[in-house]
Amino acid sequence: MRNHKNNLCVLIMTLLLVAGICSVSACKTKETREEDQLSSLWRAPDIAARLAKYSPTEITFDESLLNEEERKVLDKMVAAARFMDDIFWKQTDPTGLPLMEALEKSKEPWVPEYLHFIKVNFGPFDLQDENKPFIGSAQKLPGAGFYPPDLTKKEFDDYVAAHPEQKEALESPYTAIERKGDELEAVPYNIEYRKELEIAAVALREAGEITSNPSLKAYLLQRATDLLSNDYYKSDCLWIDLKDNLVEIVIGPFEVYEDNLMGLKTSYESFVYINDRVEMEQIKGYLDYLEELQQNLPVESKYKDQKVFGLESPLNVVQQVFNSGSARPAIQTSAFVLPNDEKVREEKGTKKVFLKNVMEAKFRKSLIPISERVLSPEDARRVTFSTYFNELILHEICHALGLNYVTLPDGTRISVGKALKEYNSAIEEAKADIVGLWSVPLLMERGFIPKDKEAEAYTTYLAGMFRSLRFGATEAHGLGTLIQFNYLREKEAFLYDPKTERYRVNPAKIRQAVQDLAAEFLVIEGEGSYEDAGAFLSKYGKLDEITKKTIEILAEIPVDIEPIFPF
Ligand code: ZN
Repeated sequence: MRNHKNNLCVLIMTLLLVAGICSVSACKTKETREEDQLSSLWRAPDIAARLAKYSPTEITFDESLLNEEERKVLDKMVAAARFMDDIFWKQTDPTGLPLMEALEKSKEPWVPEYLHFIKVNFGPFDLQDENKPFIGSAQKLPGAGFYPPDLTKKEFDDYVAAHPEQKEALESPYTAIERKGDELEAVPYNIEYRKELEIAAVALREAGEITSNPSLKAYLLQRATDLLSNDYYKSDCLWIDLKDNLVEIVIGPFEVYEDNLMGLKTSYESFVYINDRVEMEQIKGYLDYLEELQQNLPVESKYKDQKVFGLESPLNVVQQVFNSGSARPAIQTSAFVLPNDEKVREEKGTKKVFLKNVMEAKFRKSLIPISERVLSPEDARRVTFSTYFNELILHEICHALGLNYVTLPDGTRISVGKALKEYNSAIEEAKADIVGLWSVPLLMERGFIPKDKEAEAYTTYLAGMFRSLRFGATEAHGLGTLIQFNYLREKEAFLYDPKTERYRVNPAKIRQAVQDLAAEFLVIEGEGSYEDAGAFLSKYGKLDEITKKTIEILAEIPVDIEPIFPF
């Protein structure tokens, strides 16, 4: 795998070689040579179109909610969060940062657009184009910056098998792997990234000293300690226990998505946000109807006779103030569930955090243009953010409805997830969507949702389907959307006009079709039928030519926002 050597390493080595013989060819200055080297890199010709996929958008929050103390704490949190960028540059691709710095010095007219796109992607690889390079010809290393560049999965596995006493350290989510001669060495993150972590810990400790909220103080001081000890258990628990605080931060190594070699190593990231208390009260209102929704599900009682356990993780609605590290590149996170540590999950549970202002920005920059392009003008006018947000909340709540456990014909009792195996994710996501939509008329009757919102609910839902289909129909959410879309079209709940190439909701059929589809999923889950799940997915899980064409039409609309933080 030596050919994995990155282009920039070659570039730097070439620069050094040239420097070594510069007395012979002293005709060029160092700067000119660097410019020549940069100009010789291959560049994707369609950089403007790639940049246009991200709409620069200022992410603002309601600053008037903060008192003087909270403002000071927030400033310190953002100061700590910034250092997650510095670590993440090293983790995602060790050559990205030197390339960016070289480009920043260049005055070539082609540079600014490429530099901008490097900042969007945190490196020279287009994350929305299968990580292919858009400048230079190097390929992204599957092990990113976590492993030696030439390490293969087989070598790592063989080494771990031959050194069982080092297995835990080598496979830890919090170590980087380095070569020492013939040996592989696990270097703890708190040593590998000590410089950045020490500065971040100082800022967190200062925030902890300023705040007068006892739970926030305990969390911030412990998190500062944990960043330097590489053991996050105590502060993860304290994060779950936070109470009555307005400002909040999540900071540390969490997700393993960057590690495409072994899927073991976590990337550093941070979210700084303020809790939206008004919205959280609203969610409590929904939860009051949970049992009533369960009893009214449009299926036989055997498919809904379980008591609803409530939500897997409590919902928190927040306004994002800042993000950094692996939370920043390309597609912006609009919701997350943490922590990931299994021990903390078992003992304390998790929190689900909705970044409402980020969702709203995405809605304005992508869902509104989508609806203007593919819905009839009357339907497009009925697409609203408040309805969209309600649907996202209802989706989360409705995961809890129906049956969670089933008894199979042979008498064994297992979770629905285990029964439906690989079909479960798509079916479960689709169920949460459609049962959420089904619940709207009922919540209207109870006076919880205003009566005039029903048409908005259906059109906003239809617009949201195209947003999801754009991201691909193979992963769980996309496939879950496709099967609903095809079913509802078959039942003429959505009508397509080939002349205008636009869709509209059919008010005469939509309510019944939504109810029937909700029943389909609730029965598949309630029976725990792997065969029925597979049959439904293969019948409704195909993209037809019309839908493909619609998705193509959407290509010109930004895929996401590029966040600009006023800080
Ligand atoms: Zn879901």
